[in-house]
Amino acid sequence: MNIEGPHRHEPHADDEGKYQVLIDPAKCLASGICIAIDPEIFRRSGRASAAPKQPVPYRVSIVDAQELCPSGAISFQPVEVREDLQP
Ligand code: SF4
Repeated sequence: MNIEGPHRHEPHADDEGKYQVLIDPAKCLASGICIAIDPEIFRRSGRASAAPKQPVPYRVSIVDAQELCPSGAISFQPVEVREDLQP
């Protein structure tokens, strides 16, 4: 059984303007809808789907996948870059 929680990422200065996409594997029903919408972002990982561990630039397909996910497993949020990590 996969008990791994959503992936976390420590922000870096290069992440400015990017979004962290998270899939809660406990909620994912493995419908494959998100993968069908954007296979460059979403992929199969065991029984659930997974998103990149690293932040990604905004793309509307992520919003589409979040809205169409039947279980509410997908979330995404802007990466907040710490001041001391700015170049
Ligand atoms: S759309 Fe939602 S329930 Fe379906 S595979 Fe993607 S994360 Fe899982």
